[in-house]
Amino acid sequence: MNDDAHLITEIVDLRGKPIGPAHVASYIPTSDPAMLAKQFAQLIAQAIAASPVARDRIAQIGIGLPAIVESRAGIIKFFETFGGLPFPFAHAVERDLGIPTRVDNNVNLLARAEHWFGDDAGVDDFTLVLVDLGLGGARYQQGQLLIGSHGVEAEMGHTKVVPEGGRRCHCGAEGCLQAYSSMSAIVFQAAELAGEETPSLPSLRRRFAELAERAMAGEAAILALFDQAARYLGRAMANHVNMQDPARIAVLTKSPALIALLSDPFFEALHRDTLPVLRDPDRVTFKIMNDTNYARGAAAMVLEQIYLSP
Ligand SMILES: [Zn+2]
Repeated sequence: MNDDAHLITEIVDLRGKPIGPAHVASYIPTSDPAMLAKQFAQLIAQAIAASPVARDRIAQIGIGLPAIVESRAGIIKFFETFGGLPFPFAHAVERDLGIPTRVDNNVNLLARAEHWFGDDAGVDDFTLVLVDLGLGGARYQQGQLLIGSHGVEAEMGHTKVVPEGGRRCHCGAEGCLQAYSSMSAIVFQAAELAGEETPSLPSLRRRFAELAERAMAGEAAILALFDQAARYLGRAMANHVNMQDPARIAVLTKSPALIALLSDPFFEALHRDTLPVLRDPDRVTFKIMNDTNYARGAAAMVLEQIYLSP
């Protein structure tokens, strides 16, 4: 799924190769996880019906959500704007569809896509960071996706970069990285500077694109927001490197402008805050991604299960 109320469904073979084109369908935005599960089950059924693959040949369904997910149990623990949580999302979709279903956080899916099919395929030690409307991270160590003792992923967006009096984050805390370095954070702060109301979710990408253009044109107040986003991200990554020393870090975004605007101040802050013996100029790479990365990752999550099964 993505935030623009579209569900992208892709059917892949056991090597992760897509069979036919991706199926893209819109759903009705909701804050009820049961309603979302019902719509997903219907749209996935439509995607299967439209594909050249018979329904009984589909082994498993994998779904990614921009939420905190207990993936082993398929339960959504926290999902911004959603009520009725925790909710057994995988079970609800599986019951409607009649096909085994797994659910995980979307950044975990991107990390799987990278590990199985990306430039880092075969690299056993890397961290993936997604800078999108939100900001998330995932970590592979010794070839395994890191899942914490509470069953949820690395929540890099909620590491604190401002110790006191920081901006309020949607998680309820203050000073989270996501409240400064995500695309939404830049849009929200620009709206505050202009004395405007908080922009609505559907307008965020368009507004971000406008702000990126203004920053590229050299508008100082807007450039300062991108600069701050970059420096705070650099500090958070340096903290991560100092603790974990991953072999590689891939920072993914859909916006080429974001890479152009963040790179210099990001690498400066990363260098400054990384322990001298751990400084490695080749460690971090910015990369462009698109929504098919999610589908590839959902496929990898399913393949992982199939190959791990006895
Ligand atoms: Zn937070």
